Amino acid sequence: MSEYKLTVGLEVHAELKTKTKMFCSSANDPDEVRPNVNICPVCMAHPGTLPVINKKAVHHVLRVGTALGSDLADFTEFDRKNYFYPDIPKGYQISQYKYPLVSNGILNGVAIERVHLEEDTASSSHEGSEGSLVDFNRAGVPLMELVTKPVIHTAEEAGAFARELQLLLRMLGVSDANMEKGEMRVEANISISKTDELGTKVEVKNLNSFRSVERAIAYEVERMTKILDGGQGEIVQETRGWDEGAQKTFSQRKKESAHDYRYFPDPDLPKLKLSEIPEFSSDVLRATMPELPWEKRVRLVREYGVKPENAEVFTADKVLGGLFEDAVIAIGVDRPSITLIENYITSDLVGLMKGSDSVGGVTGHTLSDLINMIKAGDLSSRGAKDTLALMYSEGGEPREIAEKNGFIQKNDIEALKKIVDEVIFANPTVVADYKSGKTALLQFFVGQGMKASKGSGNPGTLKSLFEEALK
Ligand code: MN
Repeated sequence: MSEYKLTVGLEVHAELKTKTKMFCSSANDPDEVRPNVNICPVCMAHPGTLPVINKKAVHHVLRVGTALGSDLADFTEFDRKNYFYPDIPKGYQISQYKYPLVSNGILNGVAIERVHLEEDTASSSHEGSEGSLVDFNRAGVPLMELVTKPVIHTAEEAGAFARELQLLLRMLGVSDANMEKGEMRVEANISISKTDELGTKVEVKNLNSFRSVERAIAYEVERMTKILDGGQGEIVQETRGWDEGAQKTFSQRKKESAHDYRYFPDPDLPKLKLSEIPEFSSDVLRATMPELPWEKRVRLVREYGVKPENAEVFTADKVLGGLFEDAVIAIGVDRPSITLIENYITSDLVGLMKGSDSVGGVTGHTLSDLINMIKAGDLSSRGAKDTLALMYSEGGEPREIAEKNGFIQKNDIEALKKIVDEVIFANPTVVADYKSGKTALLQFFVGQGMKASKGSGNPGTLKSLFEEALK
């Protein structure tokens, strides 16, 4: 048990979805596998070239700021962040220092410091026999950097924040934010302290999943506690990497401070007065906001009575959420039907999907037809499950599938009476037990009746027929 208080601030970089790069017209294509094809003299830093600001990228960041309830800058400018590394062809990265596009705001209860716009670096690889290689396809791709205030106090809170941010970026359509593809990259500034004053922080990089964000923070708490309690000297302010295999952080380099980067306004780029651009006005930005994750969760619960955990599923999972809403539109405003849709998606269909992200041949329309058949008594729950399985694997109309496969529930009393007689005839000892007072055996008879009707009998009808016959 640690008596130290953990404090974490997160820095999240996200590649923005745009047609072209941040300052030139080279394509921004994260799926390009051939190295060094989406490049031009500007993003290769040839002398005499000039950058041009990508308006769409600015718009994306302003939309994020609007969703976070942040302050949007009126005046903004780009700065040069100077450092020397092969992945940065100009010898500096164009970023924002003094005047970020977005300040303040809140997400998932975590206060935001700023969100600014910059350009991504090239990607370098140090593996293979050819020595180090650099691919400039990514150089100059628009990159959003979001910095939280140091207000996170548990690893889980950090993970939850990152998940909510990913969802927000996707719902806004500003980034695909796949962490495993490096489209969203999280760094955690971590410190522990016994007082209100923050301890020495380390910055942990290479966190490629939500799980590694949480694991790395937990690991650092343990490592730092050991240093402080074990008298093993002091915590060094540094940048550490995360070793996924070993589930450990490791020292990378002594942390630079801001003055090492010699920031100064980029003289090649115009300063921006955002109020001069109509579509960047906060009124327009607010009016064009899509539904945000936290709004959607509340609406699903309030309008449809969806269980909170399922509202989370339908918000986080675009495909399941879309199917749910399509089926609801097809079936109309009827809470019991909507609850059936909710349950068939989150239990039966999710079971059929086995972790894939496709709902197979099921559409909102056919799902709503299936629910209507259940409500009309045409399908037992067994028959509905079997029908859904075929809708999923082969597609098609539930009525056709159910008719073709003999799943339609028999409400034909004469046919069911015959089954009841057969079951009673075949089970004389159970009948005797039932008649001697073990009335719970009624369930056994209904089960046998369902079996004899191959699942097509209506269990309610069977129940009353058995009760009648066994009087
Ligand atoms: Mn950055």
